[in-house]
Amino acid sequence: MSAAETLTSAVKADAPPAILLERVNKWFGSLHVLRDVNLSVAQGERVVVCGPSGSGKSTLIRCINRLEEHQEGRISVDGIELSDDLKALDAIRREVGMVFQSFNLFPHLTILENCTLAPIWVRKMPKKEAEALAMEYLTRVRIPEQAGKYPGQLSGGQQQRVAIARALCMQPKIMLFDEPTSALDPEMIKEVLDTMVMLADTGMTMICVTHEMGFARQVADRVVFMDRGEIVEQGEPEAIFSNPQTDRLKLFLSQIL
Ligand code: ADP
Ligand code: MG
Repeated sequence: MSAAETLTSAVKADAPPAILLERVNKWFGSLHVLRDVNLSVAQGERVVVCGPSGSGKSTLIRCINRLEEHQEGRISVDGIELSDDLKALDAIRREVGMVFQSFNLFPHLTILENCTLAPIWVRKMPKKEAEALAMEYLTRVRIPEQAGKYPGQLSGGQQQRVAIARALCMQPKIMLFDEPTSALDPEMIKEVLDTMVMLADTGMTMICVTHEMGFARQVADRVVFMDRGEIVEQGEPEAIFSNPQTDRLKLFLSQIL
């Protein structure tokens, strides 16, 4: 290990976890959707979350930036505890970018405007600077030539790459992905996964809900399997996919592989 690497790992060991969930419980009415969830994600770690439909995966990641509110337990992001304090919530939302299954682009704004809207209005960035930043990220997701078009003129895969670029324009430290490829035609899945791999290579902390096991094997440090609101098993991709311990995970794998 070089001196620089030693320094980096020493700094990382001292840093608070990027994301920490402690005994998190959530109900929708009487439906108990997160049950005593404990999860610690280190800075720079890539976690893939999988599990059957309805197991609480979306709810879990939506609780991290308060798109959903949990009722019990603690969630902190980069050492900041999520609470009713609006300043804390604001600070957390600045650090966390999110990409959804349904791209959620604004249809009446151009690709460039989609990317500059939040930096200009939320971050108070000068327009020229926001546009330069947006072009940088659109180049990184390899669609700078689409900047002047509207979302409806782009393919699903291109729209999802715009959604990723748009999230990156807020310069988050953590990216959350909720099944980003499951609404896409098969031929477009790869271009979005390639973009996510590129992002992983930059050292971004990521939580990705996905059933793309090739992607999980390629980039995940850890795979978390959820079922009925609980984390049932977690481990390195190889261990999870090749040596599942529970019947629930064995059944799930037999259905998706
Ligand atoms: P997953 O992402 O794993 O498919 P979700 O987190 O979306 O699961 O949902 C977990 C459970 O919570 C499901 O039973 C779902 O129907 C329910 N649920 C999700 N969102 C809501 C909501 N806003 N109101 C009521 N029930 C919800
Ligand atoms: Mg979901």
